[in-house]
Amino acid sequence: MNKPPKEIADEQPVLQPETRLVVAGRDPQAHYGYVNPPVYHASTLLYPTAEDLVAHRARYQYGRKGTPTTEALEKALADLEGPACAGVALLPSGLAAISTAIFSVVETGDHILVSDSVYRPTRVFCNTMLKRFGVSTTYYDPLIGAGIEQLLQPKTKAVFVEAPGSQSFEMQDIPAIAAAAKARGVAVLMDNTWATPLFFRAFEKGVDISIQAGTKYIGGHSDLMFGTISANAATWQRIRDTSWALGLCAGPDDVYLALRGLRTMAVRLSRHQESGLRIARWLAERPEVLRVLHPALPQDPGHAIWKRDFTGASGLFSIVLRPVPEKAVHAFLNTLTLFGMGFSWGGYESLVVPFDCSSYRSMTWAPGGPTLRFHIGIEDAGDLIADLERGFAALAAAS
Ligand SMILES: *Cc1c(COP(=O)(O)O)cnc(C)c1O
Repeated sequence: MNKPPKEIADEQPVLQPETRLVVAGRDPQAHYGYVNPPVYHASTLLYPTAEDLVAHRARYQYGRKGTPTTEALEKALADLEGPACAGVALLPSGLAAISTAIFSVVETGDHILVSDSVYRPTRVFCNTMLKRFGVSTTYYDPLIGAGIEQLLQPKTKAVFVEAPGSQSFEMQDIPAIAAAAKARGVAVLMDNTWATPLFFRAFEKGVDISIQAGTKYIGGHSDLMFGTISANAATWQRIRDTSWALGLCAGPDDVYLALRGLRTMAVRLSRHQESGLRIARWLAERPEVLRVLHPALPQDPGHAIWKRDFTGASGLFSIVLRPVPEKAVHAFLNTLTLFGMGFSWGGYESLVVPFDCSSYRSMTWAPGGPTLRFHIGIEDAGDLIADLERGFAALAAAS
């Protein structure tokens, strides 16, 4: 079920995803033998003759529409997604990828279904821009599974899924949701940033359009903003047309950094996974911690789905603390030195943020105590645990 695709376009023998990440999209002979493509800073493309110009006869057309640098990254990402991927669009941020993908599948009067635990700015887009253009949104329980069928309306054009959910880490039964949507001709869009195509094979699970905030694990170094939309044959042309109509493209240096990050994504993710699990297990044993929200832990309510559908876990998860005053939580956070406090994630470094989803979700979310989201970086896990121990000592002192 979770095996890599059996065939690849360039007729290589079957390669594991880790190998594909290294070889895909590379053509050294096109660049004097150098391993990597150059960064093309480009707008205008010159045509050799008037006839060529009139006929648009050229390998590339215009900077916004692609260069050898963007093409290398698109090819590498498409290869990683597998044979059902018909094309990949590169966008200036993950959020731009989300909004462009949704815009691609709706028109005025349509309706979309969005998981209640979706990345918060996705909601903002639906509640403002989509609403303004006459498209309505219903937020559904992330655990709905096949029950999504009851929410499909005649004008429903898309079901948007994200698993695990942002901040609260609910697992979604994506094959069941996709089967119900497919039976009614409704597109399934997924924000697959947490797992990446390495740990969740979106197209094999019924997703039509898979989105990555490339800012996170593809970039991997907290130094770029970037997003991708991968689409199957049924949806690719609309994605391409919409992103070009909106004039969206990613900058050449960010594209290059994304390609550079992608080459090492498998080794980074395996480390994020291993340390993330070790620290999640350690936190689960702490008396200060009520619950750890991490689908790869056996006690997590989403574990069975995670085990069935995913081939790995990244380094992002949350915890619920037993009730303590806010000043004790702040003392914990202010004591940590290896965990930076800040938004985004997916870089090499560890991060922590307090959060509260209850203020903006449609469904009740009552965790039972203060909530923190951790991103476990590639530092030594023992050093990170020692840092957390100092944090808990400060929490106890301030409680
Ligand atoms: C960060 C994030 C995004 C948005 O990506 P940006 O590149 O910051 O715009 C989208 N989805 C998820 C799940 C994210 O964590």
